[in-house]
Amino acid sequence: MSAATTPPTENALGTVRRKPNGRVLAVLWPSPPHPARWMVTDQWGSCGYETDEKVADWPVVGAVPFSPAAGVPLAPLADEADSKRGARTITLQRCCNGCGRELRDVTDAEIDAAIEGRRLPDVRHECPDCAPALADQAEAQTGGDV
Ligand SMILES: [Zn+2]
Repeated sequence: MSAATTPPTENALGTVRRKPNGRVLAVLWPSPPHPARWMVTDQWGSCGYETDEKVADWPVVGAVPFSPAAGVPLAPLADEADSKRGARTITLQRCCNGCGRELRDVTDAEIDAAIEGRRLPDVRHECPDCAPALADQAEAQTGGDV
C-alpha cells in the first residue's frame, strides 16, 4: 500500500512538517482529487503541493492551531444520516454590506440575486453596528424632528 493512496486520516489534518534545510514548510491539507496532500510554502509563498513520499523525511514540527493534528477534531456534520448518504448541508452567511459583519443565513432571494448577478439587498438596518448610524443619517436627511 502506497502512502500516496492512503486517504488522509482526520486526526492528521493540519500536521506541519519542515524541510531539513529549514526553508520550506509543508502542511497536510489535502485538496482532493489531487493525490499530493501536502500544501507547501516558502518565504515567498505557495510552492504548490507535494506527495507523502516527498515530505516523508521532513520532520514533523507542529500542527495548525485548532486542527485535528493539534487535537481539535473537526465538528461532525449536523445530520449524520445525511453524511452517510454523502450529502452535505452548506449554510451561506449574509454579511453586512456596511461593515462585513456576519448577520444571519442568506435568504433564497439573496441567493437568487447573487446567481443572477444582481446587487444584494441593503441589510445595514439589520446590523447592530451599522443600524444606529443609518438611523442617525436618515434622521439628519429628513431634518430631524420636523
Ligand atoms: Zn454593519
